[in-house]
Amino acid sequence: MPRYDLHCHSTHSDGLLAPAALVELAAARGVDVLALTDHDEVSGLREARAAAAAVGIGFVCGSELSVSWGRHTIHVVALGIDPEAPALVSGLAAIRAGRTHRARRMADALAEAGIRGAYEGAMRYVTSERLVSRTHFARFLVEAGHVREVKDVFRRYLSPGKPGYVAHEWATLPQAIEWIRAAGGQAVLAHPGRYKVTKTGMRRLLGEFRDGGGDAIEVLSSSHTRDQFTEFATYARVFGLRASSGSDYHGPGESWLDLGDLPELPAGVVPVWQDW
Ligand code: AMP
Ligand code: MN
Ligand code: MN
Ligand code: MN
Repeated sequence: MPRYDLHCHSTHSDGLLAPAALVELAAARGVDVLALTDHDEVSGLREARAAAAAVGIGFVCGSELSVSWGRHTIHVVALGIDPEAPALVSGLAAIRAGRTHRARRMADALAEAGIRGAYEGAMRYVTSERLVSRTHFARFLVEAGHVREVKDVFRRYLSPGKPGYVAHEWATLPQAIEWIRAAGGQAVLAHPGRYKVTKTGMRRLLGEFRDGGGDAIEVLSSSHTRDQFTEFATYARVFGLRASSGSDYHGPGESWLDLGDLPELPAGVVPVWQDW
């Protein structure tokens, strides 16, 4: 059975490793097929694809699109896209466009909560001028000693209802799916276990996602517990969606699953890579 890791981040979004370094690490860790899925971005794919060819592992062009669904932010992973497809390229540019303004507003909100210099602080962690994310603020807040660990930053400052959170309108779900499909890719609902929805809300989300042309849900993810691996395998079967597997690796020590460190998919699901 080849080892797949279909969700990870490089310095082209909020990861710590450059695309080539990430691919080399994946190869060293025994990954057979890797997808690079930077947030709202495809600019790292060329370097990653060349590195994958050089080390002899399979590579899938991907991205992770930010989507607003009602008051929720959800993420849709795109797999097997043509990174030059015009609708996708312009759609991603539109999603990214609001990020810098949002970062200014986040810094203003943090200043009101007594934390000064957050914009400049976050920018020191930004590795692509095209993309600033909450992760960059989180790394600054840890460095500045406001919290001990990145996950505590989100709990105390950067999630809905907390002082540094700024609501933002991303793409709509139908837009994201349409751009991905127009680019020849598969749409995968990322880490569904992370969304703060009721069971009814989850069924509505999965129904809308599937009926809108979505292909798969992430069953294995570092955002999920082992119980959620089973839970979302069941959802995949019930909704007729395929199952994906990705560590969501951002860098050493930032998630409980290391790059490529994924168990087998639970029995009875159809893998997203079935027809590859
Ligand atoms: P953004 O797209 O700018 O809103 O940033 C979202 C990113 O923040 C995610 O992709 C994760 O990398 C990170 N993130 C969100 N929630 C958490 C959390 N609870 N713990 C650690 N990282 C998180
Ligand atoms: Mn991230
Ligand atoms: Mn995500
Ligand atoms: Mn991710």
